Amino acid sequence: MEPWAIGVFTSVDAGLGVDLDGVRQLGVPTVQLHAPHAETRRQAADIKQRFAGAGLTVTVVFAGFPGESYADIPTVKKTVGLVPEATYAERLAETKEIADFARAIGVDAVGMHIGFVPEDDADPIFGRVVAAAQEVCDYCAGLDQHFHLETGQETGPALLHFFRAVGRDNLAVNFDPANMILYGSGEPIEALRVVGKHVRSVHCKDADWAARPGQEWGVEKPLGEGQVGLETYLRTLKDVGYRGPLTIEREVSGERQLADIGAAVKLLERLRAEIL
Ligand code: MG
Repeated sequence: MEPWAIGVFTSVDAGLGVDLDGVRQLGVPTVQLHAPHAETRRQAADIKQRFAGAGLTVTVVFAGFPGESYADIPTVKKTVGLVPEATYAERLAETKEIADFARAIGVDAVGMHIGFVPEDDADPIFGRVVAAAQEVCDYCAGLDQHFHLETGQETGPALLHFFRAVGRDNLAVNFDPANMILYGSGEPIEALRVVGKHVRSVHCKDADWAARPGQEWGVEKPLGEGQVGLETYLRTLKDVGYRGPLTIEREVSGERQLADIGAAVKLLERLRAEIL
């Protein structure tokens, strides 16, 4: 794979990604794939063939779970990832099934929004989520995979503290600068410098800060039109030694999504030529 290979976030039947026809139209060489529903995951051989046949490299399979909602920040805290206690065991089991699916389609990385991990390591939730991350990492290690945590809900130093507590070499960061703005969890470029050596995949997404960061959502924007500072973001990725794919995320749907991502591909191609 070429350095900074451009990609898009895709989905087959679950998640907000572009479908395969859309990816073909965009003409990019890589994708991240939102894990399909359990029933569809049984057709791994067929899915592998569909992406390979389109000349696409799938770089990360992202786990998502029934019952997750990103409606507002308190709802994310209650419903997302491995933090909610009621769904913890079944989601842990499903994560392993998703890792198996990723292996079956030839992918060496599983990604996830793990949820709101408390910053205080004396909080019992902290210990439980550390144990969950260790269990997922160990399972993924057996499949020669890394486990990538999507950034957003925590500061750079808090994420680094969590990494040290988990203590597994195959734990990695999927860095999403826009999420940090959307959640109000800190200046993304600064955080990227803090966790840079752990970054194995990234999202290229943009956003404006909310009037009351951390209490209400910021606003997601087309790439280059928000407050991430796209050029500085790319220069910082270069500084921390990141050479992996640049995966575009645009969390709207339909025509608008394809048009915005098409413009983002052109913008990234131009900036890559200038910066890398
Ligand atoms: Mg993201």
